[in-house]
Amino acid sequence: MTAAAEVQVLISAEEIGRKVRELGARIAADAAGAPVHLVGVLKGSFVFMADLARAIPGEVTCDFLRVASYRGTRSTGEVRFEMDLTEPIQGLHVVLVEDIVDTGTTVDALVRLLRARGPASLRVCTLLHKPARSKVPVTLDYCGFTIPDRFVVGYGLDVDGRLRQLPYVGVMEGV
Ligand code: 5GP
Repeated sequence: MTAAAEVQVLISAEEIGRKVRELGARIAADAAGAPVHLVGVLKGSFVFMADLARAIPGEVTCDFLRVASYRGTRSTGEVRFEMDLTEPIQGLHVVLVEDIVDTGTTVDALVRLLRARGPASLRVCTLLHKPARSKVPVTLDYCGFTIPDRFVVGYGLDVDGRLRQLPYVGVMEGV
């Protein structure tokens, strides 16, 4: 049995590719020529961010932070910072890049933290959104796909550290 045998494709690599190009073009248009500073939330955003950065025509810089809020397939309900940015964001046009917004807890906490550091602008870009699970209202400036309340893996998203390398977004059988 291969690692992906228990996964069903929800969003294909081709659909993701088209959407990432569309999001990149929108981000560039909104930046109106100014450099865009992408802030990726590790680890889940690393695949999306790599593609998104290359889909934005114009100057792009990248930094990462890391939070922990999940264990296995369950949210712990708290956001713990494990790794901070390497550079200040004051005066920059920041786009926070998430793999998925579920309850909204993580994005809400990160937007507050980053806004307090004085960026010129702060927008949120997520590949996936599960509105049925929303607990904290958040503004998603750029959203790739709205998905049902299923646990998804692939394209950076993991289950206990596995399956991040899948080129598509899939749902786990029986989860
Ligand atoms: P939130 O704080 O919005 O509840 O959760 C956001 C984080 O939870 C995401 O960055 C991701 O790490 C994790 N998460 C939420 N839903 C899923 C899912 O369906 N699959 C995976 N692999 N992670 C998820």
